[in-house]
Amino acid sequence: MNQVKVLLEEKEMPRQWYNILADLPTPMTPPLHPGTGQPIKPEDMAAILPMNLVEQEMSPHRWIDIPVEVLEKLILWRPSPLMRAVNLEKILDAPVKIFYKNEGVSPAGSHKPNTAVPQAYYNKIFGVKRLSTETGAGQWGSALSMACQMFGIQCRVFMVRVSYEQKPYRRLMMQTWGAECIASPSERTKTGRKVLAEHPDSPGSLGIAISEAIEDIMGDSEARYSLGSVLNHVLLHQTIIGLEAQKQMAMLGLYPDVVIGCAGGGSNFAGLALPFVRDKIHGKNIDIIAAEPTSCPTITRGPFAYDFGDLAMTTPLLAMHTLGHDFVPAPIHAGGLRYHGMAPIVSHLVKEGIVGGRAYNQLETFKSGVQWARCEGFIPAPETNHAIAAVMEAAMQAKEEGKEKVILFNWSGHGLVDLASYDAYLSGRLIDYTMPDEEIDRAKKTVGQYPKP
Ligand SMILES: *Cc1c(COP(=O)(O)O)cnc(C)c1O
Repeated sequence: MNQVKVLLEEKEMPRQWYNILADLPTPMTPPLHPGTGQPIKPEDMAAILPMNLVEQEMSPHRWIDIPVEVLEKLILWRPSPLMRAVNLEKILDAPVKIFYKNEGVSPAGSHKPNTAVPQAYYNKIFGVKRLSTETGAGQWGSALSMACQMFGIQCRVFMVRVSYEQKPYRRLMMQTWGAECIASPSERTKTGRKVLAEHPDSPGSLGIAISEAIEDIMGDSEARYSLGSVLNHVLLHQTIIGLEAQKQMAMLGLYPDVVIGCAGGGSNFAGLALPFVRDKIHGKNIDIIAAEPTSCPTITRGPFAYDFGDLAMTTPLLAMHTLGHDFVPAPIHAGGLRYHGMAPIVSHLVKEGIVGGRAYNQLETFKSGVQWARCEGFIPAPETNHAIAAVMEAAMQAKEEGKEKVILFNWSGHGLVDLASYDAYLSGRLIDYTMPDEEIDRAKKTVGQYPKP
């Protein structure tokens, strides 16, 4: 019998996060202040984020200590298991070993609490009383609700309306953990009212919800905003996944040839991949692949450009792969991963050729996810299904090449609260959608007005 689970003891949980900024072969393109066109300074972000997180966002240090108070919460579910998909390996009949980090074991069911907990903690010790945020399918909103409850601060979540209506269970998770959840666009903010005036039945988007959440904390000195992905400090917090995976692979005496994660804003992908990116920069030969939907093909088709993180253009200009801050995803799209931008760190690594992107249609991702569930039992989140589709493709490629390969991927979360999307797939109501070229041209025009990175 092959070993299926590789478990670290609690005392082996990493005590530091890894900051890739210390090891990049070329410097990142800095975020710009939209007013002055100059690189932003820490004080420019002070109204939105607490200064201790702004410092982390810009830190040049390679290793950053995880506070004991944060470790005490992460230990509730970490270290997460590294598992081997032995049953899927048999079915695929390819010369591969498939390993995955099971991030579905967290209380919220995904990797997101890995950053929600430290974000709530740093806000708490900075004196913040309330956090406001956005959420798409509700994964981030539920993770932050739990974390805020743990540290005794209030949490308000603007949830993309189409998900708010289709996914009541995540709203109920947020409410159970004591947060307030509001459908976005809402009547609470100027941005929300403007969108509703023009499009009364707007399904909402992450870009709109981010604008609402930021507007909501402006002028309240005891409130701050929190983002669940994209920013450097979020990716930093997620590196605990890859650091654990490196220890667990070493316990098996193995090293991955291929590292895969699905990518919405890029945080779970980067969390697993960045410690391996470090090895690749130092000479290791690894394929590092971010899997995204064809309906929101940020990395594979979006231009690398300066763009805003939100619809109302309140964030700094970030150099990233983007589909334009006014992107509204097709409402037929079931699988999450619908943010218009991509983490600047991930975008930079794509530009440098260190990381590659692949796009998958939603029918293929659900087919892969269902096959996974029938082999391995655990039902993946629709987002995770993109990573599984990429794993299957990598396995088939290894078979064609006749090469033995070790594949490692991030099983970013379970799908037990997303069964409505499985219902749509299993009952044949789900259709494929590829973003048309006109939409890409529109995105290029949107970002064409900003400075070139
Ligand atoms: C939010 C989420 C994602 C996408 O976000 P990233 O920041 O790209 O990781 C992927 N998988 C699951 C399960 C999620 O909840």
